[in-house]
Amino acid sequence: MLLSPSTPVNSAPELVFHSQLPTSLSWRTSTADERIGRLKKIRNWIKEHQQDIRDAIKNDFGKPEPETDLSEIYPVTAEINHSIKLLKKWMRPISVSTPLPMLGTSAKIYLEPKGRSLIISPWNYPFNLTIGPLISALSAGCTAIIKPSELTPHTSELISKMISELFPPTEVSVALGEVTVSQALLQLPFDHIFFTGSPAVGKIVMKAAAEHLSSVTLELGGKSPVIVNQDADCKDAAEKLIWGKFVNCGQTCIAPDYLLVHNSQLDNLISELKVALQKMYDPDFKGIETSPDMARIVNDKHFDRLRNSIEEAVTKGAKIAFGGKFDHQTRYIEPTILTHVSDEMQVMQEEIFGPILPIVPFSNLDEAIAYVNSKPKPLALYYFGGSTEQSSKALQETSSGNAVINDCVIHYIHTELPFGGVNNSGIGKAHGYHGFMAFSNEKGVLKQRVGLNNVTLLRPPYGIRAKQII
Ligand code: NAD
Repeated sequence: MLLSPSTPVNSAPELVFHSQLPTSLSWRTSTADERIGRLKKIRNWIKEHQQDIRDAIKNDFGKPEPETDLSEIYPVTAEINHSIKLLKKWMRPISVSTPLPMLGTSAKIYLEPKGRSLIISPWNYPFNLTIGPLISALSAGCTAIIKPSELTPHTSELISKMISELFPPTEVSVALGEVTVSQALLQLPFDHIFFTGSPAVGKIVMKAAAEHLSSVTLELGGKSPVIVNQDADCKDAAEKLIWGKFVNCGQTCIAPDYLLVHNSQLDNLISELKVALQKMYDPDFKGIETSPDMARIVNDKHFDRLRNSIEEAVTKGAKIAFGGKFDHQTRYIEPTILTHVSDEMQVMQEEIFGPILPIVPFSNLDEAIAYVNSKPKPLALYYFGGSTEQSSKALQETSSGNAVINDCVIHYIHTELPFGGVNNSGIGKAHGYHGFMAFSNEKGVLKQRVGLNNVTLLRPPYGIRAKQII
């Protein structure tokens, strides 16, 4: 089969993969301006197709247009602008100092493109989490094959159209389809795999990558806890938590998964959470289901999973402090706050990934820290409280991919911060310079002078000289 611009990667993954080799070799010497040119093409396309992006994501899971602007389009264009501004600086070789035994030599770290990359993305921010990593790949000078999620077909089709309009498949290509498409791609010896999705599939990706020793970035999920301490401002915390939890209908990898709340704050926080919910999603008291700002659950499988987990929790003794209503036809689940939850309930075992917010009380910070440490390391940890000493204690005594004090979720759009998890919540970091580094090989290069031979001392006959060195 011959490769043409319209060859779908699904029908010929190996062919497309092999066709990217000459490009990836020639891109080793690509300049910052050439790479920036590719980023600008994407930026222009997005500018001209904003409404198409909004429509596609709305068709996939009813996401409100302002949320698409804020959480799908803005982060991608911010990422592009940031790379365009700093790429020349990032690409510059880094000089290092010379240790004594190396006197007379010089050394630099060169950042070379890893080569051919594979980007597998999830459904929950289908545009942002596909094009964001592509920006990093192209900034680093890598080619890419992209496998977007099958659960958001309208957005995945649009991404495929965008890429085929902007790039030949020898540079960037999109593989549409089910899990089998991912599995076929994972057989190939990519130089780097950037996967965003669940920890369970992350393990499958890492196993496949091990076969070829492909490097990986794994952006995974998990249960991100929130600690609301006794000195937190409950009104302020509630407003921030309600947005962070219910944006995208709770289907956010860094959404507050559950709250650990100091006993003394429990009643106050719950009433402030209700006030904030009503203020943001039901200002006219017509019911949250009528809010134009609340997305829906992505499919029936996830709707059933979430409904069952509320029912299971209630059966086992949880109380509904707010919410609990469903509408199967529109896949609406009312924002639901649960108290009296326990560890054997599904809501406290698995990542919730939906509009359910369980609350667990604690009596002192050590107890909350011990609870967090008894679970796999989360993608994010959020802490609310005024005392710097207490917030530092919480940060130092727990481990998480990222952490935010007195807010939640917004760290995602901070272009200077590394974004990602640790162990069960991920391996490697994304965004800005850190994303560029994920797709780059740090090549240490040492330059010796002709005629200068520092290592004679290290060569045989060793005699007494070797002992003198240590
Ligand atoms: P998922 O792991 O089910 O799927 C992600 C991608 O992997 C999809 O493209 C899918 O087709 C593919 N895939 C699924 N099963 C596969 C298999 N057996 N072999 C190969 N490929 C396979 O995740 P999802 O349901 O799309 O997204 C939700 C998960 O993603 C949550 O756990 C969430 O926390 C996580 N997530 C993480 C981040 C982050 O930046 N860390 C961002 C968004 C979502």
